Amino acid sequence: MPVPISEWYGFEVKAETSGKEDLVGASLGDLEALASELGEPRFRARQIYAGLYRRRLREWEGFADLAKPLREKLSSRFLLAYPDAVHVFQSSDGTRRYLFEINGGHRIESVFIPEEKRDTFCISTQVGCAVECLFCVTGKLPMRRNLSAGEIVGQVLALQADRQTELKRLNIVIMGMGEPLLNYDNVMKALRLMTDPLGMSISTRRITLSTSGIVPGLERLAQEDLIPNLAISLNATTDAVRDVLIPINRKWNIATLLEACRRFPLEPRRHITFEYVLIKGLNDTPEDALRLVRLLKGLKKKVNLIPLNADPWVPLETPGEERVLAFQKILVEHHLTAYIRRPRGDDVSAACGLLAGRDYPQGDTSHLPPKPARL
Ligand code: SAH
Ligand code: SF4
Repeated sequence: MPVPISEWYGFEVKAETSGKEDLVGASLGDLEALASELGEPRFRARQIYAGLYRRRLREWEGFADLAKPLREKLSSRFLLAYPDAVHVFQSSDGTRRYLFEINGGHRIESVFIPEEKRDTFCISTQVGCAVECLFCVTGKLPMRRNLSAGEIVGQVLALQADRQTELKRLNIVIMGMGEPLLNYDNVMKALRLMTDPLGMSISTRRITLSTSGIVPGLERLAQEDLIPNLAISLNATTDAVRDVLIPINRKWNIATLLEACRRFPLEPRRHITFEYVLIKGLNDTPEDALRLVRLLKGLKKKVNLIPLNADPWVPLETPGEERVLAFQKILVEHHLTAYIRRPRGDDVSAACGLLAGRDYPQGDTSHLPPKPARL
């Protein structure tokens, strides 16, 4: 049974219809503009910013460094609200899937994945996804809207509030629902908030952005002064197969994508992670493995092999264990670092590609289109 929200979040869900604006997501510049509008000195903005993101205060009363009249004025106009969690689903392996409801009644998800030395938060950037990859349940949902910067960092803050994860254990992967490079500005603003030493203070090295290969987005990201780790969902070694799996490949094919990767600036000892979802009979042959070795030649890289997480809405099958190991062996024999990513939280539909705002693993599927036929 889903865990009731009161048991994990520690406070009641606010059915907030007051019309107040949420300050979560505001940058220091936004708060400085607010301070000036309120006739307050500029340094007030820093105090509010630190309270919001460093001290992670949830109530205006906690801002003891602000005079009471100002706190009252702020609280009459502004909320300090994280996305509202409808449920959290606890997996037997410790993974937790959070189902959030955001403005407009949309549902998004985040996943908490505990490991020995770190805790990973997987966060979403869009409601649904327009890329419509064949193997991904999120891609079966209609693309409703981009998440705001506040809704993106709000997921991190909400999971931190729930889990009390220490900063030194915290790892963020932007691998939840949506294609981050199709929500570029809000994702960048969220990255700045997450990494700001005056605020959330998460090291850029502990944040990984995963993309299906939006080449103009990659080129823009390459110019930024803040660049997270990069993961590319390659998933195929020929354009014929990738066209079928990831429709945007018809726009930016494998050669174009890898060219952009070769130009992507990497700090010393950093690499690009190539994700490769292994799908039975489609991209899992020894020839594919050899082609992958050839394609990635000269790149500073690591490969994550992800055996397909099967789902009734995905018309594809996962390869057998032998096939997966044989694929990895070929890569390793050619001196490629290749890990097999084992599913986490698959008993609660929290694994890669399964995030669809579902009430429970096999539960509410009414918002999904009819189940496709098997290929
Ligand atoms: N939109 C971005 C990030 C979210 S998807 C992207 O596509 O990269 C995160 C990862 O999950 C991607 O590497 C994707 O290839 C993988 N994935 C999607 N569906 C999957 C499935 N059914 N089984 C295993 N991995 C899947
Ligand atoms: Fe979108 Fe990524 Fe899923 Fe493709 S794999 S549909 S890009 S979320």
